[in-house]
Amino acid sequence: MIQMDCTCVQRRHCIPTEVIEVSDHAIEKVGDILRNYSRIFMVADENTYEVAGRRVEEILRERGILSHSLVLPPPALPNAESIGKVLMEAGRDRPVYDIGAWSLNPDYILAVGSGSLNDTCRMVSYRLGIPYGVVGTAPSMDGYASVVAPLLNGRRKIVYNCTIARHIIIDLSVNARAPYPLLLSGVGDMIGKYVAILDWEISRDRNGEYYCGQIADMVLRATDQCVAAAASLQERDVSAVRAASEGLILSGECIAFCGSSRPASGTEHMIGQTWEVMDVEEGKVPNLHGIEVGEGTFTAIEIFRRLYRETEDAPLKALIEKYLPAFDRIERLQQTLQIPFTVTDRKRYTEGILRGRTFRDRYTVLQYLYDLGKLEEYADAVYEPVMQKYCFTTFRDRFPDWQA
Ligand SMILES: [Zn+2]
Ligand SMILES: [Zn+2]
Repeated sequence: MIQMDCTCVQRRHCIPTEVIEVSDHAIEKVGDILRNYSRIFMVADENTYEVAGRRVEEILRERGILSHSLVLPPPALPNAESIGKVLMEAGRDRPVYDIGAWSLNPDYILAVGSGSLNDTCRMVSYRLGIPYGVVGTAPSMDGYASVVAPLLNGRRKIVYNCTIARHIIIDLSVNARAPYPLLLSGVGDMIGKYVAILDWEISRDRNGEYYCGQIADMVLRATDQCVAAAASLQERDVSAVRAASEGLILSGECIAFCGSSRPASGTEHMIGQTWEVMDVEEGKVPNLHGIEVGEGTFTAIEIFRRLYRETEDAPLKALIEKYLPAFDRIERLQQTLQIPFTVTDRKRYTEGILRGRTFRDRYTVLQYLYDLGKLEEYADAVYEPVMQKYCFTTFRDRFPDWQA
């Protein structure tokens, strides 16, 4: 259990996570960390099995605490097929059917992977009522410590309430070797937090929405740390990977502390996730979450810059002004990292902004502009500056061989 006393109305924030281990060769500690379990079901995919799963399995087997493992063929998307497979393989049949057995289920599920496998196992864990943890193989999103799982259900993407990981184990030497698109995705997921907190502040001031300053500060600090380190991810610098991993985990923790993704998801996520959903609706495999959120972030920044120039609402202007230095930092970072874009078609791009407003029930600058009757005008106006200033390349051009 991780706890934090607070000055907000919640007084104390707590999450049931017991261990967060971020270190070189963290995998070697997995046997000690999970010593209180005796029938661990490990789930990996063929890629994560090679980089970490095989070693984890070996350690658990030597300890005598491995029940069995399942290695899914890639791409293991967070959908009904993967969840079904994990569910079907979760129990291990005995050679002789035991009618007296209370349960054939394992006592723990261990995901070895990043976003998709973590979300898949989180759902199965919740449905079976078995604790789970994750050995993270890439700092690609902030969902390790999250409480929800965004899952593909047919041609829809639905966010399900689930459980939270008991143990989060990040081996830096493994994460430093993660595919580069996944590292960029982690940065994309993280840079959006400035926008998310700004949206939260606006809603606090306009709607009296619950706001926790301590959580907001933690998210902003974690984001500063990520942004400062991000440029060195290109060289796969271990301290940069540590900063990014810790920032992403902290952001996830703040979601859990808050009880909602409010501190980590605002306009940028609602736009980025709408583009993801548009792909899902068309039967396509969605792009990496953080890459879409990255483009959503640059879009949100441009919206805020325009609003800052035009608004006569002094408190709002002052609020936006507070975040302008952070926006400048992200802009400089983008010159170096050149996070690729996925949506460059004008119609699709603006549709993401317009539909993004109602992606979830959350007040953001999109709703503010809509109420003023200006959302369509803004969505149209930001397209060209965003493409000119922030789009250096498309994902497909930069990573032509990438498969989900
Ligand atoms: Zn608080
Ligand atoms: Zn995210």
